[in-house]
Amino acid sequence: MTEETKRRISTDLTGQIALVTGAARGLGRAIAVSLAQSGAKVACVDVNAESLAETVATIAATGAAAKAMACDVTDGDRVAEVVKQVAEDWGGLHILINNAGITRDNVVMRMKDDQWDAVIAINLRGTFLFTRAAAKPMMKARRGRIINIASVSGLMGNPGQANYSASKAGVIGLTRTVAKELAGRNVTVNAVAPGFIATEMTAALGEEILEAVRKQIPLGRLGDPQDVADAVLFLASEAAGFITGQVLTVDGGLTA
Ligand code: NAD
Repeated sequence: MTEETKRRISTDLTGQIALVTGAARGLGRAIAVSLAQSGAKVACVDVNAESLAETVATIAATGAAAKAMACDVTDGDRVAEVVKQVAEDWGGLHILINNAGITRDNVVMRMKDDQWDAVIAINLRGTFLFTRAAAKPMMKARRGRIINIASVSGLMGNPGQANYSASKAGVIGLTRTVAKELAGRNVTVNAVAPGFIATEMTAALGEEILEAVRKQIPLGRLGDPQDVADAVLFLASEAAGFITGQVLTVDGGLTA
């Protein structure tokens, strides 16, 4: 392998400061651990302070740097405070992963206002709030990576998820627009759209539904959180420097 090839495919993030929302479990935890293993310092954000401490302990056990920051992504003041604190303590913020998300499924006829509002607030407004706050230090540094975790539901819809698919389609629209706004400052903005990945969120669907889902996935299995973390790692790396405003689907061929 030539030196040039090594450089191009490297996911070495030494010296980079990252922030991951929803880092207490599931995809967020896998992403935070992967970024840290690649050399980044990682600020781990979640409402679940107890589980968040486990993520930070997992990272610390490998000798990498991480800190837990309790924060509800819908609280604009706290979001601004968290970003400011990370930038002050560690000297910047280069990588933002907007991963925190929830489902509150129901068919549209029976969907309650609070089910709609909660999903839009956390999945879409939370992504906006962290993006707005993080854009400042990134623009100043003239370097940044924003990666938003969307979903295949935002691309193709899914019965019972009008609120969730609308929030994730919104995240994709937000991604494309902010990519255009920040490109001049060398900040890239992309989305990763996972299909069905084995986490506590999908475990809630029950084994019967998951078996039916498996049959529809060309690769014949649910994804592993690491499948998503690897895609995020690539988009966060130098190798992805000319990619912006895109949606990278990680779904085992479900939407192919
Ligand atoms: P999860 O439920 O296992 O984890 C979500 C995390 O977000 C939790 O730690 C939770 O405490 C945190 N969170 C919830 N509300 C928050 C808030 N207001 N502020 C801060 N943190 C909050 O879910 P997951 O499966 O790991 O999913 C992570 C992301 O990936 C979500 O955005 C989800 O929509 C998306 N996604 C997941 C799948 C899948 O199959 N698991 C598929 C497509 C997209």
